Amino acid sequence: MSEERHLTILQINDTHGYLEPHHEIFWKSGRPTTRKVGGFARMATLLSQFEVEHPNAVITLDNGDTLHGTFTAMKNNGRAMVPILNAMAIDAMTAHWEFSYSPAEFQNLTHQLNYPMIAINCFSKDTKTPIFSHGTIIERKGLHIGVIGIASNIIDKIMPSSYSDGVYFTLGNEELPNYITHLRDKERVDLIIVLSHLGYPQDLKLVSEIDGIDVLLSGHTHNRLYQPVVVNRTVIIQSGSHASFLGKLDLKIVNNRVKTFRHKLISIEEITTPNPAIQDMITGILSQSERSMLDTIVGQTRSTLARWRSLESTMDNILLQACQDASGTDLAFSNGWRFGAPIPPGNVTMNDLYNIIPNNPPISVCEITGKELWQMMEDNLENTYSRDPYRQLGGYVKRCLGLTIYFKIENPYRKRIHEFFIGGHPIDLSKTYRACFLTVQSIPAHYGTNRRDLHLTAIDALKQFIQKHSPVSSTLKGTIVPI
Ligand SMILES: [Zn+2]
Repeated sequence: MSEERHLTILQINDTHGYLEPHHEIFWKSGRPTTRKVGGFARMATLLSQFEVEHPNAVITLDNGDTLHGTFTAMKNNGRAMVPILNAMAIDAMTAHWEFSYSPAEFQNLTHQLNYPMIAINCFSKDTKTPIFSHGTIIERKGLHIGVIGIASNIIDKIMPSSYSDGVYFTLGNEELPNYITHLRDKERVDLIIVLSHLGYPQDLKLVSEIDGIDVLLSGHTHNRLYQPVVVNRTVIIQSGSHASFLGKLDLKIVNNRVKTFRHKLISIEEITTPNPAIQDMITGILSQSERSMLDTIVGQTRSTLARWRSLESTMDNILLQACQDASGTDLAFSNGWRFGAPIPPGNVTMNDLYNIIPNNPPISVCEITGKELWQMMEDNLENTYSRDPYRQLGGYVKRCLGLTIYFKIENPYRKRIHEFFIGGHPIDLSKTYRACFLTVQSIPAHYGTNRRDLHLTAIDALKQFIQKHSPVSSTLKGTIVPI
């Protein structure tokens, strides 16, 4: 085949259930600022507009972290979102946080979607066989496109055990070449797309090692790629997060290879008219009482509460302060979650609190030794900054309050921490400290003793703290400092 063909790929990734417009971080004149963008009703308008511009030459793929992250999206374990997703002409998805409802529950949910959930790397513990289809073949104007899915591989490694009940995950790098060969040689596809939730550093390594991928759509790490990256003849894009962006990649294909491409990272602005049918579906998800609960103002913030920094963040510092106040511990830990839209100065609503910590776990407490703390933080820095992208298993650096660490990013595993202080005093490795934490992502199950849950959830603690101290302000405290 030597004729020239055209295909437009639209990428949705890491929307985290942000169905409605919300604030998002942008950089202006060298400084971070926020403005309102996004939402599924506006995204739907853009998707159908591109279908009109390129009839029968568009495919829309979703990298996952879709059915989780806001109160609205999580109603009925994500099922409330299904009619909306089914109306958006999505061609396939892969997943990550969707497994938080349990693999069985998520598998049931996927049967209600009108497009396939695909993953080559999620296996049944009993049968050792994949529980989802490896991929799908999509035809557009005679062009056969093989799409292969790779789900997040960290679910059974650092997340609560219920998320991987009965299943295990591989990286997918060993399975992928066989699927590429199968699709090319047996199914005679013209083009191979990999839909990955491994993360951008991991995906760059993957395509450098594996031949024959035309396009890799990357997810999980919330990178806004304003320009595609080409590695080993594979075009890679990733398109931000929170349904604030849409990635558009126009391909010119000759002889079953991408000859040239054009790309745009589109921010979903308020000037786009919302699709009225989708808007009605979104509005219809919540009951009147749920809506008024979410709209309740709990207090005010003087500073922007944001989560976009790798080492510590104003959003997590206030979450940790609230948990520490409620538990009376020396230390407080939370995970370096990437999701969570910024909250600008002004009113803080219950909806904002659910965006900060949508699972609303109980506050847990434990006793943990200095030696364990040191090891835990070295593990966490390795999970975040490992020289080998395949060993990066984390989000941002673990969120901490009550300690100060000076560390060398560039050093190898277990050699990064230079100085470690607790409450302003050098850490005593043999001493036992009292800590509060949110889920096993914050203090893994093998650390600490006397672990127990308080009868107080993270959102209740946040609400109480903000009500008591309103207007609040949150600053960066210099807890984790690279030197
Ligand atoms: Zn993810």
